[in-house]
Amino acid sequence: MPTRFAPSPTGLLHLGHAYAASSARAAARDTDGVMILRLEDIDSTRCRPEYEAAIFEDLAWLGLSWPEPVWRQSERMAHYHIALQRLEAMGLLYPCFCTRRDLAAIDAPQGPDGPLYPGTCRSLSPLERTARLETAVHYSLRLDVAMAMSLTGPLTWQDLDRGLQSARPELLGDVILARKDIATSYHLAVTIDDAAQSVTTVTRGEDLFASTHIHRLLQALLRLPVPVWHHHRLVLDEQGRRLAKRADSVSIRSYRQSGLTPGAVLALAGARSD
Ligand code: GLU
Repeated sequence: MPTRFAPSPTGLLHLGHAYAASSARAAARDTDGVMILRLEDIDSTRCRPEYEAAIFEDLAWLGLSWPEPVWRQSERMAHYHIALQRLEAMGLLYPCFCTRRDLAAIDAPQGPDGPLYPGTCRSLSPLERTARLETAVHYSLRLDVAMAMSLTGPLTWQDLDRGLQSARPELLGDVILARKDIATSYHLAVTIDDAAQSVTTVTRGEDLFASTHIHRLLQALLRLPVPVWHHHRLVLDEQGRRLAKRADSVSIRSYRQSGLTPGAVLALAGARSD
């Protein structure tokens, strides 16, 4: 029964990652399963090989192990492309030409994941779309969530801590599934890979709880198996803020260099070290 830890190599791992990785390992042990490590490196502008090497090194130092080969999402673009084509063929995607600045100017209501997209480009005519696609430097592909839900009907998912949840993908609005420059998105890549790697328990931070509504919808649309989810607490700093990758002071590496043992670092993160 696989679980997974899926960091992005955009910085050094910190105590929050130590906690997330040990939560994944604990979930794997509880189900006699294995913890898969997956590198979520779709954004090539932010990912670095040295951070990838540091992930392997720091996790091994913490005493974690994982099966090889480790999947890199950057090597799986063809799979995401096929899924996009399927959604496109179902008439569920539309190109969006709005820039961040356009969206900031609209003063859209806030969703759990930032401002909600107001649907500006959903109503462009086919002619307008074709014309703008020819000249656009940047555009994204958005999921028409209302249309998608009309195809799937009501959906539910099982959260191991909070119980049965009604999927409410509309809370996040018409999310971006691909961009002209990055041919997939977190939502699409993670949903496809969790299914392709037969992950049965998805463990991740509670900051991603709302994303699960969208992932459940994508699973239904793409006819993928449905796992259960455990959204774990986040490790916070002294001011109660979530840790950021750039805060090198709390990186696993810096604790290690200052002489702490793996057990002590896991304890600092509030994680089990068994
Ligand atoms: N790649 C995400 C991160 O680094 C985690 C995604 C997930 O676990 O679903 O925060």
